[in-house]
Amino acid sequence: MGDRTTRELRGQWMKSLTGSGAGVLYNLDSAGRTAYVSSNVQSVLGWDPAALRSRPIFDIVPEEDQELLRAALLRTLHGDEEVEVEFRARHLNGEELFVEATMVRAGDESQSSVLLRFRDVTQRKTTERELRGMVSWFRALTRNSGDVIVVLGSDGNHRFVSGSSEAVLGYPPDEFTHDAMMDAIRPRDRMGLVVVLEGLREEVGSSARHTVRVRHQDGTWRHLEVLAVNRLDDRTIAGVILYLRDVTEQRLRDDLTDLPNRILFVDRLQEAIDERSSAVHAVALLELDRFALVKSSLGTEVADNMLVQFARRIRRAAKEGWTIARVGEGQFAALLTGLESGADAQAQVQELGGTVEEPFHLAAQEVYSGLTVGLALSTRKYSRADAMLRDAEGALQKARVQGSGEVVVNTELIQTRGGRLLLESDLIGAIERNEFRVHYQPIYDAVSRAIRGFEALVRWEHPRDGLILPGRFIGVAEETGLIVQIGEFVLRQACEQLALWSEQIAGADELTMAVNLSTLQLRDEEIVNRVAAVLLETGIEAQRLKLEITETALIDRPGQAGRTMSLLKDLGVGLALDDFGTGYSSLSYLSAYPFDVLKIDRAFVSGPRGLDEWHRGRKLIGGIIQLGHALGLDVVAEGVEDESQAQILAELDCDILQGYHLARPGSPEVIERLLQPKRRVMGS
Ligand code: C2E
Ligand code: MG
Ligand code: MG
Repeated sequence: MGDRTTRELRGQWMKSLTGSGAGVLYNLDSAGRTAYVSSNVQSVLGWDPAALRSRPIFDIVPEEDQELLRAALLRTLHGDEEVEVEFRARHLNGEELFVEATMVRAGDESQSSVLLRFRDVTQRKTTERELRGMVSWFRALTRNSGDVIVVLGSDGNHRFVSGSSEAVLGYPPDEFTHDAMMDAIRPRDRMGLVVVLEGLREEVGSSARHTVRVRHQDGTWRHLEVLAVNRLDDRTIAGVILYLRDVTEQRLRDDLTDLPNRILFVDRLQEAIDERSSAVHAVALLELDRFALVKSSLGTEVADNMLVQFARRIRRAAKEGWTIARVGEGQFAALLTGLESGADAQAQVQELGGTVEEPFHLAAQEVYSGLTVGLALSTRKYSRADAMLRDAEGALQKARVQGSGEVVVNTELIQTRGGRLLLESDLIGAIERNEFRVHYQPIYDAVSRAIRGFEALVRWEHPRDGLILPGRFIGVAEETGLIVQIGEFVLRQACEQLALWSEQIAGADELTMAVNLSTLQLRDEEIVNRVAAVLLETGIEAQRLKLEITETALIDRPGQAGRTMSLLKDLGVGLALDDFGTGYSSLSYLSAYPFDVLKIDRAFVSGPRGLDEWHRGRKLIGGIIQLGHALGLDVVAEGVEDESQAQILAELDCDILQGYHLARPGSPEVIERLLQPKRRVMGS
């Protein structure tokens, strides 16, 4: 069987010799001596065939290649296969040529010989070598380039890969073949690139961009931006050039905090989901409650600083393997992995609350912020990252509505009040330490300029920061519900004070006291009992107490507020609509609720839209006053800052004036001095 194969092979081989460009033919004996050489050896190597006969073929082969040829000869003699070998042959003129030879065994068992045929491939070899030289030159040149440059031939294979492939993707250029590249591209991105390249091929000269994720040799995922340019028409290139740029850093990091951004977060989350591990993972969306306020009041730069500080804290608080990212302007996300249970996740999130225990140091002041958290747990069996993130967002939304510092899990609530925002505990402490004070601002009869009563305004006497005005803490007090306690304190304090003055100061028993009520207080009918109790205990007649309510209370829960207001009204206390004109639907509230007093917001009195500056201001206020009177209400103008405003308001028939021009809010001692010598109030 071996013989038949050999014979067949030899037959085919001999046949090919009759073709054109058949090359030089040798018949060599087992020692490599030339039994026969075809005459065309002269045109190829310059030798006269007769001169070569019976000489070993090795005579025309440079020493370095002789061993190679000898081995090939032996292999041919002892095997049935065709053997191919490349070696150099010496031309008569001394030049070395590259030849490509094929050998088969000939002769019979007793005396075998070798048929060798070779072709001059010097031209091809030199081009190849030059090309290799150029490629390595170009590779060396591009080794430190940020882009990986790949030239795809018309067959779609890599014809050239720049030296940078190693630095950028970890693959030496030779190993970055087309298959290797495609394997490294994330499966779900692969098709997209193929489609882009197919489309590109259609149109010579066109280019396209596409982003794919590629696995670096070290196992990490990289985002590569691919710019593909069709240069099939360009003869030197004759292919499609791909410029691959690693954009991982710029795409995946938040510049400000240097944390991963949303894209990277979603990526990591998807990886965690795809892992389908038995451990629980969770997405916690974290929002700094005070961020928006800091930004609007202290500016972007300070707000950014707050984010940087928070990023540092949360990174420090994170356990190993977690991903902390900045996913929105003031929003962070934590991917908690390797958890035991949903309860474990909640416990871990509680701990994250500790990151806001300390104040943020911003623009020479300390700012406390609560942290509101929306939590989604993998126990819901998500298959997509965006679905899980959406649930966390929904939970955050709920948490926001429920108030600062809440943690809401997959839209269902868990109680967490412990260990969060110092501001709240500060406020609690302030109540306990009795740091709240009530100041009083007198209100005046617009015509006689006699004091008719006061508005009670709360202040926080901070042991370190001094007197803090309500604008700085009422918001938080409302968010945390502490306003209810604070409001009750003010109510009691104000009524006690009024009772005291009524006793001590002649004529003071006619004066009224206005106390502000928060939305939250109005939500609970309990306020009615509290007011009744205070009136009873202090002996103040109900009609001397005026409760001030802003529109927001009515917008929130119109029905509930209305019920509470009627009950208060039944007690006999007066009700005032505060800050009139700053909301939207004031008019309808005016007629729908049992108000006695209308307080025009100071924006219409002083300031750019006030009486002095704005020619329509006078008409507007005149209209409001008339409207109030038509509904049977007393009208108070707030924020009267100069005499001309006071005069205009009196002319327009306003009943009562309140403002810095007449008196600023003051401590009881200050107010007493105003009240005692009647002349000083009336005079000047
Ligand atoms: P408000 O009820 O409209 O109180 C009037 C505010 O205007 C007071 O500010 C007062 O100091 C200020 N004001 C008075 N006259 C002038 C003036 O001529 N020009 C200007 N520019 N301002 C004037 P304050 O004390 O800072 O209180 C701010 C707000 O805080 C109050 O507005 C009220 O809504 C709230 N607030 C104060 N105390 C309490 C309280 O005990 N409970 C509740 N729920 N809210 C309170
Ligand atoms: Mg008020
Ligand atoms: Mg007001």
